[in-house]
Amino acid sequence: MNASTLPVIPQADPGAGYRAHKDAIDAAVARALGSGWYILGKEGEAFEREYGAWLGEGMHAVGCANGTDALALILRGLDIGPGSTVVTVSHTAVATVAAIEMVGATPLLVDIVPEHYTMDAEELVAVLEDPPPGLPPIRAVIPVHIYGQPCDLAPMRAACDREGVFLIEDCAQAHGARLDGRMVGTIGHASAFSLYPTKNLGALGDGGVLATPDAALAKRIAAIRQYGWHERYISAEVGVNSRLDELQAAILRVRLPLLDAGNARRREVAAAYDAALAGGPFAAPLRREGVEHVFHQYVLRSDDRAATQAALKAQGIGTGIHYPVPVHLQGAYKDRVALGPAGCGETARAAGEVFSLPMYPELTDGQVKRVCDGLRSLAR
Ligand SMILES: *Cc1c(COP(=O)(O)O)cnc(C)c1O
Repeated sequence: MNASTLPVIPQADPGAGYRAHKDAIDAAVARALGSGWYILGKEGEAFEREYGAWLGEGMHAVGCANGTDALALILRGLDIGPGSTVVTVSHTAVATVAAIEMVGATPLLVDIVPEHYTMDAEELVAVLEDPPPGLPPIRAVIPVHIYGQPCDLAPMRAACDREGVFLIEDCAQAHGARLDGRMVGTIGHASAFSLYPTKNLGALGDGGVLATPDAALAKRIAAIRQYGWHERYISAEVGVNSRLDELQAAILRVRLPLLDAGNARRREVAAAYDAALAGGPFAAPLRREGVEHVFHQYVLRSDDRAATQAALKAQGIGTGIHYPVPVHLQGAYKDRVALGPAGCGETARAAGEVFSLPMYPELTDGQVKRVCDGLRSLAR
């Protein structure tokens, strides 16, 4: 069989994650279905407890409908809305910026550092110390641990504390990543995780969870996610409807204990790709010093991306682009959202060059070898 007749290795394969643990997931689904209680019940409570404990001592987790809502609920819980500016990046899933506008706040997008694709901490500090004119006061910063690599959070947290600004971590791509030994999602005032099926911890449908060391904040957000009910049927404040259902919670409880091993497998696959790239024209992704990267994506850059992707595709290797157009250049946001004083040049350059290789724990050794052979062939 020659390469072109081999089955394509998809860049993402959420079905493989289900099949690998089908019996346990099916049993959990049957348990949830049989319980007769489908929204905000025992499974959801148990998942919140287990997720909080997995993050670390003193962390409180609140389930919700998706990762976008997790960010928006945190902002609501901190009373950040109209009349507030929230700083984030343009090199992210559009959801990060959408969540800021959902609550009526004003996004301000700063650039990334090109070697790690994460928020430029120096630019953030400059913007906090000397905010661009014409914007409401900056109340929060949302750095994104993009691709599973922790941001340079220490200077960000210090600057936020100096300026009285909340630090909210977008951990949608980084469940289990560590920075100087500390789990991401435990360093800011609060953190948001997507549980979309392809994320490192994924439901089999939509889901989200947020976390905070602040018990009172967690309690308030838990009320806001259900119409602002502090007691049943009585809204003590204005809320929304953003709940994690029992089916998804039951599935997530099967998957949470598998997450650390899944992340370890991702790192193993990444190390194999690194080795295959050594000495060739493509630089392996740089890891920031002191981090444990969880490789939600394994991202390379090519100044002739279409040709590189086509060459891999010809060998049955799927690739993706995360993300092809920065948020500030997308139709819904273009010429409207505020950028930091330095602009978003590195963001725009990255969007034109990045592409992602197949990356999920269920990749077989045979599939990894085929990707590695494909990468080596690019060197010639
Ligand atoms: C996936 C993702 C989100 C949004 O999550 P949803 O569950 O799709 O709403 C937010 N931020 C980042 C960085 C993401 O990758």
